[in-house]
Amino acid sequence: MEPVPCTPPSQDYSPVDDLWFDDGNVVIAAKSRLFRVHRSILSLQSSVFRDILSLPASEEQDMYEGHPLIELPDDGEEVEHFLKAIYLPQYFPSAKGPNDLPFEAVVGALRLAHKYDVPFLRRRALRVFSAEYILDIDKIETMPTPWWRRSDPHREDDVTWSKFVTEILLAREVGALWVLPQLLFEASYEHVERLVSSQLSQADVNNCYAGFQKVGEAKLLGTLLFQELVNAGCNYKCFQNPNGIMFALEAAGKLSDPIQLFSRDIEQRTRVAVLCAKCKERIIERYRQWRKDFWTSLPGQYSLPDCKELKEMRRKALEVFFTCRGLIDSCIWTPLA
Ligand SMILES: [Zn+2]
Repeated sequence: MEPVPCTPPSQDYSPVDDLWFDDGNVVIAAKSRLFRVHRSILSLQSSVFRDILSLPASEEQDMYEGHPLIELPDDGEEVEHFLKAIYLPQYFPSAKGPNDLPFEAVVGALRLAHKYDVPFLRRRALRVFSAEYILDIDKIETMPTPWWRRSDPHREDDVTWSKFVTEILLAREVGALWVLPQLLFEASYEHVERLVSSQLSQADVNNCYAGFQKVGEAKLLGTLLFQELVNAGCNYKCFQNPNGIMFALEAAGKLSDPIQLFSRDIEQRTRVAVLCAKCKERIIERYRQWRKDFWTSLPGQYSLPDCKELKEMRRKALEVFFTCRGLIDSCIWTPLA
């Protein structure tokens, strides 16, 4: 029998121990990382790999230690997360769970599950990714604290901003439009130089400019809201004493800060303010309405479908379904806000 031809690799590769199986029969290369895996597993999970691997072998086929070598143009770290998620069920949760899953793992698994068509992993990764963003502002109080990002839109450091851009680009790439109202809203506050020099599309940069104008309108509405509350008065004349006036001024000022959409600060301050119970109730009710109206109008501001349609898109993307093989994925997950 003729020896199997072996084409020397074009660069220095290093095998990844966890994904180097002795009985693997295909070698995947991504940048400098090498993975010896199984044709059957890749073909079972991914229609794209199934097509690639079903092509008849050509004489030009690169080989590595006697096995076909497939070079992917993707980032090596992303491919490692992607393959680990396919091979190791415990590595990638079927719902948002352990907080120690690295951001890069979510990005890598989601991007490549979408690109190479791995439905179960795309759905899992979308669930974890989507759990960090709100669509229903009324449920904000039940939202978990985001673990890979802050809700604070005033991002100053380059690392956070680059992560933020990655999230927007990823959402566009995989069609997860339902995370974009929050992301674009926060991006609208970024410095113009950063927006312009980022990898964001021109359309999204324009969206951010338009969003910033929208926020200006919200500030005005927030101020008017407190004026209205003050003018409404009450039997106890809450807003005719220095405490009440000071509270109203501070609260109106706070409404000019977009982070109030993600914070309960105004509600908490209202509860402890020197005001009568009726005024407190009125302020919290009107404030919640203001927040809801503003939030509901956001998707349109960014040329996105409305909240109802976005929720429906999310439901379809995340839903678990049955096939002749049985339940494709675990359905233990909590509804998203
Ligand atoms: Zn009062």
